[in-house]
Amino acid sequence: MDAREQNRKAVFADQVVPMPTVRLKKQLTRLIKQGHAWIFSDAIENRGDLPPGVPVRVLTPRGDRPIASGLYDPEHPIRVRVCRTEPPWELDHRWLASRLHLASTLRRGLTRTEKTTGYRLVNGEGDRLPGLIVDIYGDTAVVKLDGGAPEAFYDCSWLGDWLVTQVGVRRVVRRYRQRGRAGEVLCGMPWTAPVEFLENGMRLTADCLQGQKTGFFLDQRDNRQAIAWVSSGRSVLNLFSYTGGFSVAAGMGGAKSVTSVDSASRAIADAQRHWELNQLPSTNHEAIVADCFEFLEKAASRGRTWDLVVSDPPSFAPNQRSRSAALAAYAKLAQLALQVTAPQGLLAVASCSSHIGAAEFYQLHLDVLAKARRPATLLLQRDLPCDHPTPLAMPEMRYLKFLLFHLAS
Ligand code: SAH
Repeated sequence: MDAREQNRKAVFADQVVPMPTVRLKKQLTRLIKQGHAWIFSDAIENRGDLPPGVPVRVLTPRGDRPIASGLYDPEHPIRVRVCRTEPPWELDHRWLASRLHLASTLRRGLTRTEKTTGYRLVNGEGDRLPGLIVDIYGDTAVVKLDGGAPEAFYDCSWLGDWLVTQVGVRRVVRRYRQRGRAGEVLCGMPWTAPVEFLENGMRLTADCLQGQKTGFFLDQRDNRQAIAWVSSGRSVLNLFSYTGGFSVAAGMGGAKSVTSVDSASRAIADAQRHWELNQLPSTNHEAIVADCFEFLEKAASRGRTWDLVVSDPPSFAPNQRSRSAALAAYAKLAQLALQVTAPQGLLAVASCSSHIGAAEFYQLHLDVLAKARRPATLLLQRDLPCDHPTPLAMPEMRYLKFLLFHLAS
């Protein structure tokens, strides 16, 4: 058993283990008390002797008193992920169970309803459970751990049991950070079919073992509902459709016709399947495998237009360095999307890149609309839904941006 494993076993056996201490180098007490959950390597003493994921008490720069406890990682720029800012400091099963219970209570009625059984149960730092994501799809829970410290700290088999006994799921899957790595079944019988769930009455499925993220983009739930509200009688183009969440929402909202475009043939097949699962008329859905930029160029050159265009691309800025290329790509996409948006039509644009701020995303579209001489009004500006809480002192965690414009001409 290595040191990491030994530590986890000790913590989760709820043995009284003395918690190592680390001293702040910068005066961050106030920020941490306000809920900032990350302490970077330049702000705290280095303890290379500690394994990743070990619970520590964080001391003031003077070292006279503890102000927080959290998960230490000697190998990561985020040296400490804060879990508690008030005593008791222990990060044991009792603490974990009470945090999970709080997270679950918060979702009751807010997102988990008779009509919505797909939701995020735990949103990491926003639920004071750093690095832990739990998404629920009907009878299946998907656990994802973000980073070496969370991976070493959280006891997945204990979590699996908690989810089965307390939330009532039948299956628990663990997904990994590495892209393309399939999930592992932690609890329940192995299965292969996609998992069914409801979102505002829509019947949807998630491939929890192989699909993107944990199988579905739950963060767009409220925005999909907004698209349902404005779709009645309109022709709708859903760009970067993935498995057709926005398409089905538009269909259920009474769209005249819906066109889904995605470069992944499997996603497009799923979009068609979701359309049929909701008993929408199959003649009203056009499912196209194509690059969205090329598709838009062609559609524009043929003069084709839609009454409502939705554009929700993958993150164009995965890091700080790719920011300017990403801004150019968002602008290009908006320009092309505008060309196929009918006069008096609606344009919805989204970005999931945390490296692009809400204000600059807004400004970028203001500029594109002005340049194209398409005066517009803003109908809706949104970010994350209620089941994705974020710490008050970390506004940068609200990565999602969604704008809905009404074009005057
Ligand atoms: N709007 C979706 C999520 C989109 S995720 C939803 O609400 O569920 C981004 C999608 O873009 C992925 O399905 C990916 O296959 C697709 N994609 C990425 N680059 C693309 C491109 N250049 N053209 C078309 N689709 C693309």
